[in-house]
This record gives sequence, C-alpha cells and structure tokens, in this order.
Amino acid sequence: MKIFETVDSIHNTLIRHHEKGEIIGFIPTMGALHEGHLSLIEKSQTENDITVASIFVNPIQFNNPHDLDKYPRDLARDEKMLQNVGCDYLFAPDVEEIYPGGKKEDINLDFGRLDRVLEAKFRPGHFKGVAIVVKRLFDIISPDRAYFGKKDYQQLLIIEKMVHDLQLPVKIVACPIVREPDGLAMSSRNMRLSIRERMVAPQISEVLFLMKNEASRLSVSELKKLGTRKLESNPLFRVEYLEIVDKRTLAMISDNDDMSYGMVCAAVYLGDVRLIDNLELF
Ligand code: AMP
Repeated sequence: MKIFETVDSIHNTLIRHHEKGEIIGFIPTMGALHEGHLSLIEKSQTENDITVASIFVNPIQFNNPHDLDKYPRDLARDEKMLQNVGCDYLFAPDVEEIYPGGKKEDINLDFGRLDRVLEAKFRPGHFKGVAIVVKRLFDIISPDRAYFGKKDYQQLLIIEKMVHDLQLPVKIVACPIVREPDGLAMSSRNMRLSIRERMVAPQISEVLFLMKNEASRLSVSELKKLGTRKLESNPLFRVEYLEIVDKRTLAMISDNDDMSYGMVCAAVYLGDVRLIDNLELF
C-alpha cells in the first residue's frame, strides 16, 4: 500500500489511473480503524479497480473541542490494518493540506430537515463541517464510488443530498452497520469506554432490537416510552435522544403515521463518550 500525505502527490497518482479508465473506490475515515471501516474497504475492493482510504480527523466537524482532543489516533496501527486487507492507497494529510492557510470552501447548500434534527440538534455545525471536508476530499480523489456506513445514517443522507444537489459525478454506496458479537455498533469511540462502561454499552443496541421486535405490536409513542424507560434505567447512561423517524426524510413519526419506513436513532453518553446507533424497525 502506498501512503500519500500531500494533495498533489495523490492527485497525480490517481490521474494516471483515471486516464487508464480504471474505476476508483474511496473510503473517507477519521482513523482508529475497526472492522466497520474494513467492511467498507472490502466492499470497495469487490467493485472497483483501485481502492483509496483516507484518514483525516477533520477539526471543523467537531463542535466540542474536548471530543476533538480525545479523538483516538494511531496512524501506525491503521496503516497496518489497511495493508493487511490490501488497500491500494492511503491518503493521510495534515490539516494544512486540506485547509491551506485555514481556508475552506464554503458549501452553500440547504440540507433542510436533515441539518436540523437528531445529531444536528445537538452538534451545531457538525454536518456543514462534514460536507465541506467530503467535498474537498472528493475534489482531490475524484472517486467513481464512495463508501459510507449506515452507522452514521444522517451523515449518509447529508452526503447523498450534497452529491445530488451539486451533481457530483460519484456514486454513494451505503454499507450496513458492523457490530461487535455482543451487538454494540463498532465505533472508534468504543476504545475510550472504561471496562464497566464497555460491559453495559451493548444495552444500547439491545434496546433498539427490543423496539424492533415490538414495533408491530406497539404504537410509536409506546415504543419510544419503552425504549427510553429501558435506557434510562441504567444509571451509567445519559440519553441525549431516542427518536423514531422516517428513514427517507428523518421526519419524526407519530402515532397515526405509516411506520413501515421507521428507524430508531439514539445518542447516549457513557461518561464523556458519546455513542450513536440506529436500527430499521421493519
Ligand atoms: P469515521 O472514521 O467514524 O468517520 O467513519 C468512517 C466511515 O466508516 C463512515 O462512513 C462511517 O459511517 C463508517 N463506519 C463507522 N463505524 C461503522 C460501523 N460500525 N459499521 C459500518 N460502517 C461504519
């Protein structure tokens, strides 16, 4: 695997592949890689000639400076993991490469509800920061396909909307959530959990799966009450939100609405670690 740190070096290499008509798959990440990330790499490898991963902890998408400081970083370990799965190229730039002189291209898109609910409500500016960096990375890599996990479902919808509205020539491929054997959604943040927190963390997905099991029997408000009660019964959890939304629009679903596109989304703090998860109800 070749590693690039500068925009020019990776751009020049990829131009040669584009000229040969080779198809490029791209997986943007913030590092601290796990099987969830690797599943995106592996999917790309089955669909493209060349697979490019990036590792860049994007400062402008962190609304909480503490979260940015604490974000786990281990480039040497990540490189080994990518090498082991046979990723072709890694782009690992520093902040100055991506935002030279602190300059960033503003993206004047109205994401509507997608940038008002769930994560957006609690992380103001987060999705704008995500959209700016993904657009910048797309400009550098010019991928034919880009792979995103449903773990960050709202982010996936934001990127799909950006690609649609700006008519970017890239196909967005949505990939399923990879979970630990005990059900916990894999996340770089999981490694920051204490032993005690890690032991109870799977209860988040257990509650989501319980809600899915009860979805055909209970109303939306009853489901939400059940899930919230279960989560809040654990004193280690601080529930930021637990919502049932339409997975196409992220509109909140209420009792008389069609639940067939229902998705439950949750954000829960364990200590100072904020975990998110989601599950389709049907
Ligand atoms: P991150 O490094 O957290 O920015 O994630 C990079 C990409 O990996 C995003 O598209 C995430 O949605 C995806 N991802 C993270 N965790 C998982 C997971 N457990 N399963 C599938 N995809 C994931």
